Amino acid sequence: MDDLRNTINGCQVEPVNGRWLDNIEPATGALLGRVPDSDADDVQLAWEAAAAASEDWSMSGGHARSEHLHRLADAVEANLEELARLESIDNGKPISLARSVDIPRAVANLRFFAEAALADRTEEFLTGDRARNLVHRDPVGVVGLISPWNLPLYLLTWKIGPALAAGNTAVAKPSELTPVTAARLGELSVEAGLPPGVLNIVHGPGAGAGEAIVAHPGIPAISFTGGTVTGGRIAEQAGPLFKKLSLELGGKNPNILFEDADLEAALATSLRSSFANQGQICLCGSRILVHESIQERVIDALVEGARGLRIGDPLEDRTQQGALVSSAHRDKVHACVQRAREEGGEVRCGGAPPTTLPERCADGFFYEPTVITGLSMDAVTNREEIFGPVVTITPFETEEEAVAMANATDYGLSATVWTTCEERAARVAGAIDAGTVWVNCWLLRDLRVPFGGVKHSGVGREGGEEAMHFFTEAKTVCTAQGTTS
Ligand code: NAD
Repeated sequence: MDDLRNTINGCQVEPVNGRWLDNIEPATGALLGRVPDSDADDVQLAWEAAAAASEDWSMSGGHARSEHLHRLADAVEANLEELARLESIDNGKPISLARSVDIPRAVANLRFFAEAALADRTEEFLTGDRARNLVHRDPVGVVGLISPWNLPLYLLTWKIGPALAAGNTAVAKPSELTPVTAARLGELSVEAGLPPGVLNIVHGPGAGAGEAIVAHPGIPAISFTGGTVTGGRIAEQAGPLFKKLSLELGGKNPNILFEDADLEAALATSLRSSFANQGQICLCGSRILVHESIQERVIDALVEGARGLRIGDPLEDRTQQGALVSSAHRDKVHACVQRAREEGGEVRCGGAPPTTLPERCADGFFYEPTVITGLSMDAVTNREEIFGPVVTITPFETEEEAVAMANATDYGLSATVWTTCEERAARVAGAIDAGTVWVNCWLLRDLRVPFGGVKHSGVGREGGEEAMHFFTEAKTVCTAQGTTS
């Protein structure tokens, strides 16, 4: 693969400082190419381009912006197979997943917000016969978009869509670990005729390009998805600058199986919610809480299911488990499993890198799907995010105990509840601290509904109107009745 370029003002450009980072293919450990190690100078150029494009874009109207976003979606869709392949190579995820989820969802994100661009969000409130209030939603200006490596194009377009639809121009930074599809999106945006400067993509690490975006005085809003520690650091930096902040952070999500659950459905979905994308989805249900009466059946079924998942070359259609994103992340996941052992956990399956891999993948960053039992909710393993193919299974006796266990972490992103009792489902969903609770399903997403976390899982919500509100400033114009004609 060639060296990647930043997309600034509709041009493909090298980093100002001439520095580059190696981009490694997770499935092989081989060098894929180089990615710009951009810093504040590149962010400044991107900001200048975005600021110059801002007025025309914001004045262009919802219809024009909608057409541009649809054209970008068309370009992504027309290149779906190529993008899925690039995502799989760059991230290590099975190509079947990139093809069926990541890239189609990127298209859906752009189309969804292309439609959202059409709505007039001005609201009117009459104060009796004394005044007429008009609440306008104006674009914020130049916005900063920072995204993680686990769903690279999917999460980047989830931010680009609403930012541009609302009339903002953007400086976007994908993860330096998975920059390839974002770089391709930059090229496609130019080919699709997006005006220069509307979408600028700057590559580089958090400490360079990322911090420069957060600190830039001309970027009044930052939409960030990533780890909780990084989110805290960004909040510290952006708070005194009074920036708008949307923080989508980590999770340690409970997956609760009650004794009256449809066990067949619960087990099939739990295997997916444990190990999809090698467990590297913020919404994965990494803590399985199970009623003691069905505990053994659940453990046996999940262990058997985990052992049966086909680990292999992500580019093979049949592969169900690809590589973790980096050697450092694979080592972190392994250290977490070692810690679980030290805490008294029993590793029922997995717990190590696989021993048989295709020759091409011998040096890749793979890890076996791992099921751990025997740990209480006090264990660090059950409190801290691992973000890999590792789940714990813990029994409970009563509904109250299940809820208390579900809430026994600092996180609150999502939860899943398996029960056939409607009243119990409503009670438990109401009592769990989470931004999303799925009942008898998982990862079923409607792009209109708010998405985000409570506690250390984030601040604010993305999705639908919430995103359009984040990317606009409300301005109220209150006119005394009868004073104008
Ligand atoms: P990360 O926090 O290390 O990095 C995320 C992005 O922030 C990257 O682009 C990175 O370069 C940048 N960054 C790092 N330090 C920065 C700084 N000081 N200033 C500005 N930018 C900085 O996260 P990651 O390892 O890429 O992603 C994994 C994490 O993301 C997990 O914790 C996962 O739960 C979380 N996540 C959350 C959601 C959600 O919607 N809540 C979705 C996906 C992933």
